[in-house]
Amino acid sequence: MLQVSVVVPCFNETEVIDAFHASLITALEPTGQTFEICYVDDGSRDRTRWQLRELTRSDPRVRYTSFSRNFGKEAAMLAGLRMSRGQAVVLMDADLQHPPELVPRMLELHRHGYDQVVAQRDRTGEGVLRTALSRIYYRLVRRCMDVEVVDGAGDFRLLSRHAVDSVLSLPESNRFSKGIFSWIGFDTAGFTYRNVRRAAGHSKWGGRNLLNYGIDGLLSFNSRPLRLAIHTGLWLFLSALAYALWIITNVALNGVDAPGYTSLMTGIVGLSGIQLATLGIIGEYVGRIYHETKHRPHYVVRETDASPGPLPSGGPSASSVGQARSES
Ligand code: UDP
Ligand code: MG
Repeated sequence: MLQVSVVVPCFNETEVIDAFHASLITALEPTGQTFEICYVDDGSRDRTRWQLRELTRSDPRVRYTSFSRNFGKEAAMLAGLRMSRGQAVVLMDADLQHPPELVPRMLELHRHGYDQVVAQRDRTGEGVLRTALSRIYYRLVRRCMDVEVVDGAGDFRLLSRHAVDSVLSLPESNRFSKGIFSWIGFDTAGFTYRNVRRAAGHSKWGGRNLLNYGIDGLLSFNSRPLRLAIHTGLWLFLSALAYALWIITNVALNGVDAPGYTSLMTGIVGLSGIQLATLGIIGEYVGRIYHETKHRPHYVVRETDASPGPLPSGGPSASSVGQARSES
């Protein structure tokens, strides 16, 4: 029985992938457990795919899947989880920001009966602004989300087979894995490690991506923004009513008085802004519904270690979506 699978999404990681692989092997071999490493090439435009192919050829414990284009890290992690066959599955980044030396410790905790083990990083060496922004964001998220998301607890974690099956049983196409991992529950253990910088190459996350990721996180797990829109609307309505009463009283007492261009304009512009933002929120949810109803596969596979060269059916994702449909 295969004991451990390590799932590694890679996007343009030519510069680090060999170093990563070497240090992962060095960390795993002394544990004496049987393991496999599942690399997922997320449509890299550099030599990553060839390197993975090479690693697979030279080491039978390595497997890989390569996407036809860049589908994003969430899709890559999903593909990796689907590929994995081990009793425990470790998810980690290829850039050595998730130190492979910590994997044995995670396996140890797993042996003590935890279904999820999270390695949580601190924020050493990160920009002041970014740290502050994420802190505010997590405080906000904790207030309005139904699942608990912890600052710094990213995708470096171990899942038991049971937990992996639960993750794979969630069919949504908008995948926000931080939320999903928390949603499935199970006994979770964790420890903190010192944040390290990327070994080589550069991060694929710009400010804009992070902002979108943040919005995704807020919207994926609840409908509270809609509730907020209703509350705002009600409060505005009540204040408008009060204001109208005040004006009417004023007119009744002091006679007709026409000025008020400034307050009128302010009112119109302010209200239009709120309306547009609310429409945007609603639109975002409708867009998600539209996206989900299309039942598209999460990714398209170009090749895997089992079948180098393009797959005729569009890969495992396409076939599993087909099954899901015929069952329902
Ligand atoms: N990654 C991916 N697809 C993407 C972007 C990133 O598979 O579209 C992988 C990347 O190769 C790395 C991990 O996700 O293994 C984390 O990416 P990165 O280091 O750029 O993010 P950061 O650590 O800056 O959050
Ligand atoms: Mg990184």
